[in-house]
Amino acid sequence: MSFSEYRRRRRSGRSPEPRGQQRRRRRGKSGPQFVIQHHAARNDHYDFRLEIDGVLVSWAIPKGPSVNPQDRRMARRTEDHPLECGKFEGVIPDGEDGAGRVIVWDHGTYDNRTEHEMTTCLERGHLSFRLDGEKLRGGYALTRIREGDDETWLLMKRRDDDADTQRNPVRNEPASALSGRRLDELS
Ligand code: MN
Repeated sequence: MSFSEYRRRRRSGRSPEPRGQQRRRRRGKSGPQFVIQHHAARNDHYDFRLEIDGVLVSWAIPKGPSVNPQDRRMARRTEDHPLECGKFEGVIPDGEDGAGRVIVWDHGTYDNRTEHEMTTCLERGHLSFRLDGEKLRGGYALTRIREGDDETWLLMKRRDDDADTQRNPVRNEPASALSGRRLDELS
């Protein structure tokens, strides 16, 4: 879960994922970043990551995000990742943590829609934010439903102009938002 745990797991230097040297604060006029990586590991999932306080706070979503407000998507909290991991696409070799293919399925910036700091929202177990990505846009809520080792949250699309009960980007828009490649096109 913690950043030091992330680095400990990648101490060998054999993983192509960046190890991350330290927490970094990005400078830029746009908001903090979000990234969603499609990760074909032993269990296929989407890694949903929000830049909070210099790291990518992360959840693994087995079914991926939805743009339909009627859907609730289970999101298991995973370890924080360094910011540079948000650009990673490639193949994590067998034997490494998370072995399998990774693409950047969507990316962009987000706005916190609460009056509290994101770190406070994380502690309290409720986040509300607007995404400005290439596939996902508009309001989303993430709510913690189980604490402890198996910390579990639910991701839901807000009812707004960007909600769409017909679109299914996880199924119909599989290509990387970064490179246009699909998982099976990685070498
Ligand atoms: Mn993953």
